[in-house]
Amino acid sequence: MDAKEQIKRSVSIADVVSLYVDLKPAGKNLKALCPFHTEKTPSFFVMPERDTFSCFGCNKFGDIFTFVQEIENLSFPDAMNFLIDKFNIPIEKKKSSGFFKKDLYVKINEIAMKYFRDNLFNVNSPESKKALNYLEQRGIQQKTVELFSLGYAENKWDGMYNFLKKNSCDIEKAIELGLLVKSNSNRIYDRFRGRIIFPILSESGTPVAFGGRTLFDEANKYLNSPDTPLYKKSKYLYGFNLSKKAIREKKYSILVEGYFDVISLFQEDVQNVAASLGTALTDSQIYLLKRFSDKIYIFYDSDKAGVAAAIRGIEKMFEQNVNPSIITFSHTHADVKDPDDFIRKKGVNAFNQLLETSIDGFKFLIGKIAQKYDLKIPERKNDAIQSIMNFVEKFSEPIIRDEYIRMVADFFKVDEKRLELKERNRPSTADRGPGKDLVVTPAERIFLESIFAMPELIGEVKGLLSDKMLSVLVSGNIIRLLVKNYNETTKEIDDYSKISKELSDAERGLFRNIFESKKNAETDRGHLEEQVESSLLEFQAMSNKRDARRIDQEIKIAEQQDNYELIQRLIKEKTRYITSKYKTKTASYNV
Ligand SMILES: [Zn+2]
Repeated sequence: MDAKEQIKRSVSIADVVSLYVDLKPAGKNLKALCPFHTEKTPSFFVMPERDTFSCFGCNKFGDIFTFVQEIENLSFPDAMNFLIDKFNIPIEKKKSSGFFKKDLYVKINEIAMKYFRDNLFNVNSPESKKALNYLEQRGIQQKTVELFSLGYAENKWDGMYNFLKKNSCDIEKAIELGLLVKSNSNRIYDRFRGRIIFPILSESGTPVAFGGRTLFDEANKYLNSPDTPLYKKSKYLYGFNLSKKAIREKKYSILVEGYFDVISLFQEDVQNVAASLGTALTDSQIYLLKRFSDKIYIFYDSDKAGVAAAIRGIEKMFEQNVNPSIITFSHTHADVKDPDDFIRKKGVNAFNQLLETSIDGFKFLIGKIAQKYDLKIPERKNDAIQSIMNFVEKFSEPIIRDEYIRMVADFFKVDEKRLELKERNRPSTADRGPGKDLVVTPAERIFLESIFAMPELIGEVKGLLSDKMLSVLVSGNIIRLLVKNYNETTKEIDDYSKISKELSDAERGLFRNIFESKKNAETDRGHLEEQVESSLLEFQAMSNKRDARRIDQEIKIAEQQDNYELIQRLIKEKTRYITSKYKTKTASYNV
């Protein structure tokens, strides 16, 4: 029995997939929200009898190995090693292919993590003592320091640089990873200096980025890795690798803002917690929580900025048909400023009470908006209702939307029908114009929306859009014209109306429909790049699938003619289309 067979016999597809998603029974199969694309209702199925998975939303399918390859972005031998490690299968590991650039980056981050750790526990260094004192004063215990692999960056310009050199790391790659910075005058120096370091780990525990809290009163209290080949900040939640298990068991999650919020709550055994880190909450981050929790609590700082961030968070979650609950403590605990402060001052019992008195996100919003307007004046009341209806419209599910319209009517004591009317009158982007019969795949829609949101992305990917690939797409002609009308100098699409003129009626309707929906689109570059990248992979897969189908037909004919030579040649050709997936993957790395 070869290694592959042995692994297959040791772990089931459900074992592997459930490391990443919450599988629910569906007949003799299991289903879940797809880990590869964002969706609102599950179309991802695991079929234990056949040992395979399949998604009807994004068409991904395969066995345990393909699943691990896709989700961890690993080569085949590395996927085998991953499974051997994860499930303690008693066979020898394969030699890593090193095929993916990612492996080299991970190694450098692992070495960097060691540097930070050594720094924190360097008994001869007064700085290390200062760092440990700081953690102690913030109430962080030794076991928590270990659990979160905390470290320290020495307050000098070349500490990391020398350590990486000594360990023969590729300096250019370390710059790409944001560990080192290259100045305009080509001087290379450490990014993190004089800071407590929080490694940010992937779901499976590899270090992808770092955050640092200064110990030297720097203007920037916190500093994080930039987006790198390993890390897109829009995609990660701090602490999620550790909290996933508890979130899954408890079926709810608590979203906080900062490193210390996660760490302090975790230390008090509130382990279903993760932090959004920095600016705006993203769809991917919400989706990560949604995959495992039936309910999400937002637990942010009590100051104005915290409340504003919570409101933005609610809005973002509405778009994904999630109504979070808001944990507030400003009325009851005026002496507390953030979750970290709360749990340390008040303890876990007080926190549990707080959780019980949390406010429904929608009610929280209505309350905030009602406070802002004088509802005794009809015009202001109208403004208030408009304002809340803007949030209600975020829900894409009509049934959910109707429920909230009812709540607004109740609260403001107005006729529900009047609100419904308003809601119906708003321009709908869904079915309108002559193009309503033209249906594109989700990948095409996402691709076009991303390009409309940031046209310069077309400049970066146009080389990858072959005629052959475009020919399988419903929107192929639209994309071709976008490329043709892209201006390299201004990094804009020159003239949208010119494109529109060259389209068929049906295409024009589609074009307009997607173009108009762009006002709701993301503006985060990292996120958009990611969407374009995954759409391209999907296009390639669609193109390959068509080729494979064509060859299947030819094989059938060759079989009827008993032309074995041709059959063999065709089978060879077909495998090329099945395995060429990897080529696309490496190509898209440079996107
Ligand atoms: Zn999917």
